[in-house]
Amino acid sequence: MEIKKSIAIIGGGTAGLSLAYNLTQIGHDFKLFERSDGLHDNGLGFLIMANGLKLLKQMGLHQQVCDQGVLIDEYVSHHKTTGNTSKTNIGDCLAISREDFLNTIKVNLNKEQLFFNKKLIEIEVDQESKKKKLTFQDGHTEEFDIVVASDGFHSDLRNFLFPGHPKQLVPYKEVVGMYKDKNTVAALQHQFIKFNDPESGFNVGIIPGNTDTVLWFIQMNVNKVKCPENNQEAIKAFVKEISNHIPDEYNHILNNTETSKLYLWTLFNVDLVESFHVNDIVLLGDAAHPLLSFTSQGVNSALEDSCLLSKLIINKESFELFNEKRKPVIAEYLYEGRNLLDQFIHPEKYDNFKVPFIQLSK
Ligand SMILES: Cc1cc2nc3c(=O)[nH]c(=O)nc-3n(C[C@H](O)[C@H](O)[C@H](O)COP(=O)(O)OP(=O)(O)OC[C@H]3O[C@@H](n4cnc5c(N)ncnc54)[C@H](O)[C@@H]3O)c2cc1C
Repeated sequence: MEIKKSIAIIGGGTAGLSLAYNLTQIGHDFKLFERSDGLHDNGLGFLIMANGLKLLKQMGLHQQVCDQGVLIDEYVSHHKTTGNTSKTNIGDCLAISREDFLNTIKVNLNKEQLFFNKKLIEIEVDQESKKKKLTFQDGHTEEFDIVVASDGFHSDLRNFLFPGHPKQLVPYKEVVGMYKDKNTVAALQHQFIKFNDPESGFNVGIIPGNTDTVLWFIQMNVNKVKCPENNQEAIKAFVKEISNHIPDEYNHILNNTETSKLYLWTLFNVDLVESFHVNDIVLLGDAAHPLLSFTSQGVNSALEDSCLLSKLIINKESFELFNEKRKPVIAEYLYEGRNLLDQFIHPEKYDNFKVPFIQLSK
């Protein structure tokens, strides 16, 4: 009888949960370990673009996910300096809160394979058996053949495989918030509205996230705008100041956001790692390739990764194929993300503003 390789998935974000879902569909056993309590209520939301929606269709999750989010019909961009407003059709695009999205995947999984409050703190590889011994913060240890590292942007497993892999701080930060109000969502009419003022050093984006939730973000050029300290009161004061620069009909969204629903994000430029796998430890999603938020491809590329990896696992194909197929795509996301960041940081160099994320028609 054939013995299937045991799989541990570290991290229960988009990459980890969607891989768990795909493995469940093909009947492959696994255990998923997530350091948090798994409620996912400390994140905001994202845009699932055409490439992500197509994969959700293939996974059979499209309808369930769409039921929880809001399909965006139009991107409306107001440019402060020129006074121009442009409307763009951004193709298939769904806005959804992180909590709704991850819970939609999770309800399809067997709870007995998911382990929460399990923070991985150490991995040791036995050179002879090639087994990976995992040690968790609570003292639990367990061995696996394959370890999938989907432990996010600041992945410890990426550091374990590539210690000292360089990352550069970028002169860019984001404050994000979530405001609950049905009437405001209705008034937004499926539009993603953005107030662009890169000359002053900030943009504000407003997106309906579900029937009663508005997601919003402030992008800031920290060379031009004084970034607040990372505490709720300082962020709140900063948001109030920025809200004065957008039309009155929208500034209540920023000002009425609960203080506990405000987050300040610091981002880095991280170059491509040498390889997305070393032996049978595979990096997935943000752990493999942290992307600048300008790309709007964090969640979509995590889905692309997990769909490909589950196919390779079922067909017992080499993880080298994962590298071959994903590296060129990710290199393009990195390039585009940096380009969009440059447009925001140095608007004087560009005549025309691009739609502020990568559009993929495929
Ligand atoms: C709290 C949070 C909020 C976010 N909010 C937004 C947002 O508003 N908008 C947006 O565009 N993107 C957001 N993101 C990023 C977005 O979820 C990812 O870019 C995208 O979904 C790719 O997912 P991922 O699974 O690769 O990484 P993530 O979604 O970051 O998932 C990584 C998971 O690994 C877990 N983990 C990390 N280290 C360990 C460890 N040692 N042991 C066990 N588990 C571990 C983390 O708790 C996390 O659940 C957020 C991420 C997080 C963690």
